[in-house]
Amino acid sequence: MERARAAGVVGFVVVGLAGPPADAAAPSGAEAAMVPARFVVDLARRAAGRVAACVGLHPHDARIWTERLHEELRRLATEPEVAAVGEIGLDYHYDHSPRETQREVFARLVGLAREVRKPLVVHTRSAPEDTLAVLERERARDVGGIIHCFSEDRAFASRALDLGFDLSMSGIVTFKSAPAVRDVAAWAPLDRLLVETDSPYLAPVPVRGHTCEPAHVVHTARRVAELRGIPLEELAAATLANTERRFAKAFPRPT
Ligand SMILES: [Zn+2]
Repeated sequence: MERARAAGVVGFVVVGLAGPPADAAAPSGAEAAMVPARFVVDLARRAAGRVAACVGLHPHDARIWTERLHEELRRLATEPEVAAVGEIGLDYHYDHSPRETQREVFARLVGLAREVRKPLVVHTRSAPEDTLAVLERERARDVGGIIHCFSEDRAFASRALDLGFDLSMSGIVTFKSAPAVRDVAAWAPLDRLLVETDSPYLAPVPVRGHTCEPAHVVHTARRVAELRGIPLEELAAATLANTERRFAKAFPRPT
């Protein structure tokens, strides 16, 4: 966080996910699964400056979902430090949980976000149609949110924007292999774009291959500004305003 602040980052939205036991010897059950999510909410509570949490269950781990875990997540999501529910969604690339389970859990967690009236942070990989279908069917528009680590194309982007979702650009936008993502970064309305790191993953060029950390978001922002032909300062002011608006529940404008 210190290195990020030195690089010009003024706030943090940290993802806290419920998760399976680290190994066979570790305790299991809903209480144990909630430990990492609670850790992040605690961090947001204690940290100086503007630090918010979001809590969710990653689609990789949808298989550990239980009614009990759902209830624990719902309770935690009502905490004032929690800005959003996520990341949740669908990942058909790794298929770590059965797809049907992923869809069911995703739907339930969209319902949870609507219940606690907080926006969604959506993870979607190799599942564009099903992701949009769940968001539409479960009336995600009521709370809106962001598509995190945006990796789709303009057609997906315009449907997501119509559903009330902003687009969050990660290091992917700097990768040679992602022309469709660059196209979206240049085309999307400036008031619907965010930037993020996905730390410790997806370090942007020129630090690709290193462990990603919050300070690196500056490289991603610079690339998006270049693509749009605007100064970095203008892009940064817009993404900060968009982040404040989107995560307003726990990440208010400084007074
Ligand atoms: Zn993700």
